[in-house]
Amino acid sequence: MHPETAVVQVAVPRPLYRTFDYAVPGGRQLPPGVRVRVPFGRANVVGVVIGNRSSSPHSLKPVTEVLDETPLLPADLIELAAWLATYYHHPIGDVYATLLPAKARRGAPAKPVEQTVWLPTGGDANDGLTRAPKQRQTLARLRCLGSIADTEIAVAGVTRRHLAALESKGLARRAIGAPTSNFEGALGDKGAVAGEGAVAAEGNAAANAENIQPTPAQATAIAAIVASLGKPTTHLLDGVTGSGKTEVYLRAIAEVLRRGGQALLLVPEIALTPQTLAVLQQRFKGAAALHSAVADAHRFDIWRKCASGHCKVLIGTRSAVLTPFANLGIIVVDEEHDASFKQGDGLRYSARDVAVKRGSALSIPVVLGSATPSLDSLENAQRRRYRYLRLPQRAGGAALPAYRVHDIGNVRLDRGFSPQLHEAVARHLSAGNQVLVFINRRGYAPVLFCPKCTWQAQCGHCDAKLTYHRSPRQLRCHHCDRRQAPPTCCPQCGHEELVAVGEGTQRAEEALAERHPQVPLYRIDRDTARSAKRLQANLAAVREGQPAILVGTQMLAKGHHFPKVTLVAVLNADAGFLSADFRAPERTAQLIVQVAGRAGRAALAGEVWIQTHNPKNPNLIALIESGYRGFARHERHLRAAAQMPPFASLAVVRADSRSADATMELLTHAAQLLDAPGVELLGPAPAPIARRADRHHGQLMVVSERRSDLHGALTRLEQAELKAPGVRWSIDVDPIDTF
Ligand code: ADP
Ligand code: ZN
Ligand code: ZN
Repeated sequence: MHPETAVVQVAVPRPLYRTFDYAVPGGRQLPPGVRVRVPFGRANVVGVVIGNRSSSPHSLKPVTEVLDETPLLPADLIELAAWLATYYHHPIGDVYATLLPAKARRGAPAKPVEQTVWLPTGGDANDGLTRAPKQRQTLARLRCLGSIADTEIAVAGVTRRHLAALESKGLARRAIGAPTSNFEGALGDKGAVAGEGAVAAEGNAAANAENIQPTPAQATAIAAIVASLGKPTTHLLDGVTGSGKTEVYLRAIAEVLRRGGQALLLVPEIALTPQTLAVLQQRFKGAAALHSAVADAHRFDIWRKCASGHCKVLIGTRSAVLTPFANLGIIVVDEEHDASFKQGDGLRYSARDVAVKRGSALSIPVVLGSATPSLDSLENAQRRRYRYLRLPQRAGGAALPAYRVHDIGNVRLDRGFSPQLHEAVARHLSAGNQVLVFINRRGYAPVLFCPKCTWQAQCGHCDAKLTYHRSPRQLRCHHCDRRQAPPTCCPQCGHEELVAVGEGTQRAEEALAERHPQVPLYRIDRDTARSAKRLQANLAAVREGQPAILVGTQMLAKGHHFPKVTLVAVLNADAGFLSADFRAPERTAQLIVQVAGRAGRAALAGEVWIQTHNPKNPNLIALIESGYRGFARHERHLRAAAQMPPFASLAVVRADSRSADATMELLTHAAQLLDAPGVELLGPAPAPIARRADRHHGQLMVVSERRSDLHGALTRLEQAELKAPGVRWSIDVDPIDTF
């Protein structure tokens, strides 16, 4: 090897469990975190330098191009990437592909873009603007936002002419700087949520922000978090719905900013909770947002501004936890129990767990907030790994809603509603209030059935029934998304009256619309939420407070604040509790408490009806009689007895292919590799819905009392590099469902 040649270790964007060495011509040292273009196979790919070596026994190909002068990724993210690859048993190259925004992956330059920024000059005088209302407005806007970048003039709703006029009067000035992030990721372009929704919510926030006096419980929580700044403490903030967790986050974040740090707030889904974003952007000028609707180019911009320290507050969904920061001071995970924090494919990480890991690596506090904390987090609090903070009461004195378990075992239902429930709906509406009906199934009916020969509409490509949709009239497979026109008569016997069995949101909507034609009705599920704009308009209309009916799926459970909803009805609580997945009861209890939490959030008392065929269900009884905490205690015993998380470590190995045999063969081979003392294997077995889109799915659960045993077993599997033609397989560590 030539003495002048340095050797770098590079993660290449391929699903491979190893890195590759390259020579750097000229003996230059490249710091970790720099991107390089390197030859790989026949291609030239963008990789990331993750280390240096003094020499290499092989003769090495040279790096073709060095893409960054200074590291694009700070040292803590390189360490985090290594941890992700190890903990989740995921190929290191693919970890980097997940970490980097698409634009960065393609090798786009990372030069900071400097541009003209308009700033207000101090003071709050309006001298000489009495007869210039436009300039006065412009000044107010500028002072409110703190700064307006040249490129943001239009979106800020001002003009250059008015800014220049203010400048000539000494009320504004220009500076060269990094662009602000006032409008970044505002749910503009693709999400189409910005505009009206966000602005409307902003008004409310402005009204509240100043005059909130923290309750004693909030003050205690804020003090505990602030006292832990600079320390690797994880707090579990267990606060009932409406207890003012957001206010705790905001005050803790404000203190971090005051000390010159940055803050990261993770939320499950921004499109569903634009209020949170609006409140945040109102309180912290220049807060940026990262979520799936942010375009690639923007994503890389925001990412760099966090890395450089220009952006002080980032609010984002799952992947935002992988953003580099110059001086991160706190991470908040709102609704920490939410399943959307877990990535379902590729690098199957839990953003919540990664947040905790990052917090301890950076020695900063992490706040996990929820009204229904996951059993995992509760157990961590119990074992004193997390500090437990509690907000036991609703802020502003609102009462928690009263539950009412409604036995529908012997009741004739009208499209899912008992006569009593129909009456209750009418009563609440005529009192001028709003009603929310929850049903966790979209479409009209889950089964289309022939009463003569018992034929049922099945998907030809999945082991699943087709769901009947009314608007538009279609049979849809919720597993492979194939759609077809419903038959007019039974394809098996020709009978002409097919029956739609069971209830979905569309059918509940039909039943309610028929009885209350004069009341506006909003259906909110994945079908209607395709248009984010319409969703926002609907949610805004509900917040107006006129009598209205909301029908929807779990989308309704997420963080909305509907002060005028006084009746929440859960049409069928049984389905969730009956599912085979070990986390199903936990998820169902969380859902019920979260939807129930939408009721009576203001001065009006709320009532929650739970229709069930099984009022003696111990899960349900625990939940109603002693609340979510009672449920959690009950469920904890079952988990301990069954040796399931949080009392054991769990992974699922999944495989799928066009042949059921090939799938099982690969999993059988995997089982042989995994088998060891301290490791219990369940399966391999076909997945509960084995055939999906013509592929046969199978799974193998791996359970260990000690994580080190699980880790050892998965390492053997990883190193064996199992391959079979046409078979895809994956490892899911800490799966959130076992399907
Ligand atoms: P959570 O996230 O815990 O469900 P929120 O943060 O949405 O609750 O707060 C619920 C409502 O209570 C909001 O309207 C908020 O403005 C209000 N609120 C929060 N803290 C206080 C307080 N200390 N005094 C009065 N109202 C408060
Ligand atoms: Zn038939
Ligand atoms: Zn299908």
